[in-house]
Amino acid sequence: MLIRSYLTQIHQKGHKEFRVGKRSTSLYSIIFLLLSAVAYYASARFGMSLFTLFPSNISLLWLPSGIGFLMCLRWGWKAVPFIIIAAYYVNLPGMSVSTVEAAKLHTLISAIADGLESYIAMLLFAKYLPRGVINPKTLSKFIWWVCIIPPLMTATVITANLWVGGYLVSHQLEEFFVSLLLANSLGMLMVYQLYNSLKLDPIQFKKPSIGLCLSMVLIGFIFLLGIWRYPAIIYLILPVLVIMSFELRLLTVASISTLTFISLITATHFDLGPFVAMTDQATAFELMAFTFACAITVFGLSLQQYQMRLAKESGERWKLAAEHDVLTGLPNRRAFMPALTKEHHRSVRLGHTYCAVIWDIDDFKNINDTYGHDFGDYVLVRLAQVMRSSCRDIDYYARIGGEEFAVLLPETDMESGKNAMERFRNEVAEEVFTAPDGTRHSVTISIGIACLASRGITETELLAEADKALYKSKEQGKNRTTAYCHPNKN
Ligand code: GH3
Ligand code: MG
Ligand code: MG
Repeated sequence: MLIRSYLTQIHQKGHKEFRVGKRSTSLYSIIFLLLSAVAYYASARFGMSLFTLFPSNISLLWLPSGIGFLMCLRWGWKAVPFIIIAAYYVNLPGMSVSTVEAAKLHTLISAIADGLESYIAMLLFAKYLPRGVINPKTLSKFIWWVCIIPPLMTATVITANLWVGGYLVSHQLEEFFVSLLLANSLGMLMVYQLYNSLKLDPIQFKKPSIGLCLSMVLIGFIFLLGIWRYPAIIYLILPVLVIMSFELRLLTVASISTLTFISLITATHFDLGPFVAMTDQATAFELMAFTFACAITVFGLSLQQYQMRLAKESGERWKLAAEHDVLTGLPNRRAFMPALTKEHHRSVRLGHTYCAVIWDIDDFKNINDTYGHDFGDYVLVRLAQVMRSSCRDIDYYARIGGEEFAVLLPETDMESGKNAMERFRNEVAEEVFTAPDGTRHSVTISIGIACLASRGITETELLAEADKALYKSKEQGKNRTTAYCHPNKN
């Protein structure tokens, strides 16, 4: 009872995390299950055609272990009968040593072991990796609970089953067991890596980058050179895959490494490359050791890289949010001050001039008080749009306070700056705002402008001058532009 409720609990947990679509026994669900079972069967046939050991249904490329695992992640126990049926029919032709009935019985036992392997892997995955394999830290858990424990159980059952059935003799047991274990583990690792990359880092159809093309050419070159001329060169595939995992996206790395490993297994089957040893088993072990080591390294590194990219992107998003005003979308004071400093230094260095402007809505409190805060917000947003469209590309504008805005006008003297701001003030005055009660209104703004004009002042002093000029505009009756004049000149 206790075990049952425990199983139900992690089963549900597993489903919650990994369900892609609706979990139901709808027609679609059954069709997809059937298609997955066909994929299971086809990948097993594919593996068998590439590299078979004794008995002839044991392939080193056992991708079905990974496909069965994904089927259970998606459909839970409902996938198990489909896996068993597919495993049964794919294995039966290779089991022809004894009578037909015995062959069927032992194939069925092996197929059940395959089905249970996928289900147990799913249960352990749901329990120990409820959020999936999202960073390199979770990789060791994945290897242990998914790539080692379930294949270990299956390899034990299948080896014993084939031994009892007379398909294997005692001296073959150890090698058979290890081959089966490695093949199933690698299948889990390769298929899950592809699935995980697809889930974390969805496909983006873009033009292939130079990095991608170069990596593929390099891997192809190393592969061909290793296969036909200098076998040891094949080991260079690992560093190239490692560098690729620094540069390229998860799915690209996963696809290229899987393709590379499949090609390597195929080449070894044709007695090419550095892994061809005295016996088939020795060949299998050397090939598996290399492939497994590469696959784990590349998986871990690409996950690490993915995490770093996520952190960088989230940092950039925070910076963007911290430097922009939510209401108008304009840069805020935090972003404006460094922009001002930068422009100031640039102008001083080049001996050029620029203007700093501050403007403020006239009697905005009245607008808020009469028509409500929402209408006030609407006015702010519209004025921000007017400012945006009236500024040049090289100008920089920001909302530096509640209803206070600033503009930087690079390469602009006082005369041109004043003209530009007068034009803007007129554009604002022409805007019509419809209040909630249907009445139409216009608003005015007051502007203060100061110009560097080769004076030895700092950027904050210049901004303070613009502020003083704005104050003067307000003092003198609002709705006007005032250029800052040094008091001595008055
Ligand atoms: P003046 O012509 O002298 O500038 O008068 P004013 O009423 O515009 O100036 P005051 O500084 O007295 O009022 C500014 C008002 O701006 C007060 C505040 O409620 C309003 N305000 C500030 N930020 C926002 C905002 O984000 N949305 C809205 N709707 N109002 C805001
Ligand atoms: Mg105001
Ligand atoms: Mg104000």
